[in-house]
Amino acid sequence: MNPGSEKLAPGLYLVSVPIGAARDITLRALDILASADVLAAEDTRSLRRLMEIHGVALGSRPLLAYHDHNGARVRPRLLEALAAGQSVAYASEAGTPLVADPGFDLAREARGAGYLVTAAPGATAAITALTISGLPSDKFLFAGFLPNTSSKRKSAMKALSTVPATLIFYESPKRVAAMLADAAEVLGDRPAALARELTKKFEEVRRGTLTELAASCADTPPKGEIVVLVEYDDSGIVSDTDLETDLRAALATMSVRDAADHVAAARGAKRRDVYQRALEVARETE
Ligand code: SAM
Repeated sequence: MNPGSEKLAPGLYLVSVPIGAARDITLRALDILASADVLAAEDTRSLRRLMEIHGVALGSRPLLAYHDHNGARVRPRLLEALAAGQSVAYASEAGTPLVADPGFDLAREARGAGYLVTAAPGATAAITALTISGLPSDKFLFAGFLPNTSSKRKSAMKALSTVPATLIFYESPKRVAAMLADAAEVLGDRPAALARELTKKFEEVRRGTLTELAASCADTPPKGEIVVLVEYDDSGIVSDTDLETDLRAALATMSVRDAADHVAAARGAKRRDVYQRALEVARETE
């Protein structure tokens, strides 16, 4: 047994690991890694490295790979360990397991079978980004990764457009400029932030409206790991039904352009959004 490690109660321990700086791991997480009977990791190499950095010996304990591609096969082995009264520690490659990472099915099955499921909380990129973004932190919605194609991404954003909270997305550097441009179109040109390489050497936060950030990314493409945050802005949001009723009435006597101008001014809504909707309503009634 590792020095300072105590026998853990049987159960599943979901262990948060750093998102960059190796020292961002809690003492309790190290204790659990030092004393669990069985270790499982999304990426066994990165867990081994982390344990080496912190002087936690693996010894003869099993370290199993558990990720999206082998979960169904490995889960029964981990549940067998729990059934045998053992403690199982699970860590994802970075940050908190289950947060845009594997572990959900494992935790659900373990809980369903009546075993203890507990966590050693710690770093997660979403919360780290939120705390330094400068955007409202009283209410937030973590939306994870958006779909890759623009049309699916826009539909997903539309579904979030009236959520009265700061929206938090994970995004790849390859797609971030296109994602920001789509967000400006669907959500309106809201204040936003892009946080990258958190807790690492090249940590950076860019702030601006979605259009400004899209331009900044096109100009200086950001590298590394990225979180995008978008502020809630209800100034231009009118319910679809209200907008449609007003537009139908206006289109009875006006051109699309005039109807859009009229309704946008009356509702205090964004003209570009109202114009798009007016085109659709006019087409539907043709
Ligand atoms: N479980 C992790 C967590 O708790 O944040 C998330 C894992 S997810 C597979 C990886 C994504 O998280 C990256 O593509 C990026 O969007 C975000 N991320 C992870 N580490 C980050 C960091 N140091 N800086 C910025 N974003 C990060």
